[in-house]
Amino acid sequence: MSEHDFDTIFPRGETNEAFAEYFTGQSYLHMLTTEGVVIGNVTFEPGCRNNWHIHQASSGGGQILLATAGSGWYQGEGEQPVSLLPGSVVVVPAGKKHWHGAKADSWFTHIAVAVPGEDVRNEWLEPVTDEEYARLGEKVQGA
Ligand code: MN
Repeated sequence: MSEHDFDTIFPRGETNEAFAEYFTGQSYLHMLTTEGVVIGNVTFEPGCRNNWHIHQASSGGGQILLATAGSGWYQGEGEQPVSLLPGSVVVVPAGKKHWHGAKADSWFTHIAVAVPGEDVRNEWLEPVTDEEYARLGEKVQGA
């Protein structure tokens, strides 16, 4: 799939400069709203993924990912990677170390909903290495 064939429901937005240091590869961010609930539309080029990270909160918090286009990955620490397609929903509890991003051969877009809570902040950790990333497809049948 070429970039020009990749249509998403919401605008792709600008290159994601604010969080670029926490991503491998190019991502794009279009904020949908920051009122009440922070919701962003995030697009990853093929191979792009964010670092391992934790959505911290003292109560509530966490993140909900709603896959809308292309094909991607979600992985929680110590868990098998999960293949994401349009319509996939991932509920990431506060405090859970995880990452998300595109497949190696596909663009991917998800809506990211920041679940409201107390003292919410993102803790950014190490990148997903090329070696880890290259092994993902072997772990999941049909991915
Ligand atoms: Mn996350």
